[in-house]
Amino acid sequence: MVKKHSKKGFIIAIDGPAGAGKSTVSRLLAEELQGMLLDTGAMYRSVAYFGLRAGAKTERDFAITARALTFQPSPDRRHLLVNGIDLGLKLRSPKVSQAASSVSRFKAVRDALTRRQRTLGKSWSKKFPVVLEGRDIGTAVFPQADYKFYVTADSKVRAMRRFKQLKKTGTKIKLSEILRQNQHRDEQDSTRKHAPLKCAADAVVVDTSRMGIVQVVKFMADHVRAHRELV
Ligand code: C5P
Repeated sequence: MVKKHSKKGFIIAIDGPAGAGKSTVSRLLAEELQGMLLDTGAMYRSVAYFGLRAGAKTERDFAITARALTFQPSPDRRHLLVNGIDLGLKLRSPKVSQAASSVSRFKAVRDALTRRQRTLGKSWSKKFPVVLEGRDIGTAVFPQADYKFYVTADSKVRAMRRFKQLKKTGTKIKLSEILRQNQHRDEQDSTRKHAPLKCAADAVVVDTSRMGIVQVVKFMADHVRAHRELV
């Protein structure tokens, strides 16, 4: 028989490569469980965005940017406010995506953001289920997370999803270029020295290549509920 947990707040780690559908799935899962979402990718993206605007070039410059930013949840608990603002699509451009991947290699930046992620995750999880989405949540930020998922999909499927997303926002880019950028980002993320992207040994792998969003969220929510008294 499965031993059921009953505490109200708990931590769900969701990791995986670029464009696997993590963001949408994480947001919907947080909604389904009436919990909070911490999009850690948005934190790296914010460091890249504000750092570039301020002319940051070195690890030290970007670490100073990382330490100066404030992060708090939006009133609906599903978005991250950076310095009090929801930066929305400003963080999603291909330029910021690549820059985020580059600054995320810096140890001083990772240390600063990992500390904040742990503080936010611990404090929110006293009251709510918290979904943390990123690359190193189950391996480095919260290796003791209550639940771990590794969300992935075929590289062509991932590129097509990102292509459709960017098209909706009016960004003109070729599918082949997205495929190339994703490959570059995944390579950079999984081969970096500090907290690289990898599947935790105890994570549940969810291949979304042939699954719809609703099906993925249901699978994850059922998995969590199967191990809990409440929620
Ligand atoms: O998930 P998202 O695509 O928004 O992440 C942007 C970049 O931030 C990733 O390519 C990765 O380099 C970095 N990142 C990270 N660790 C995390 C979350 C994101 O290194 N926990």
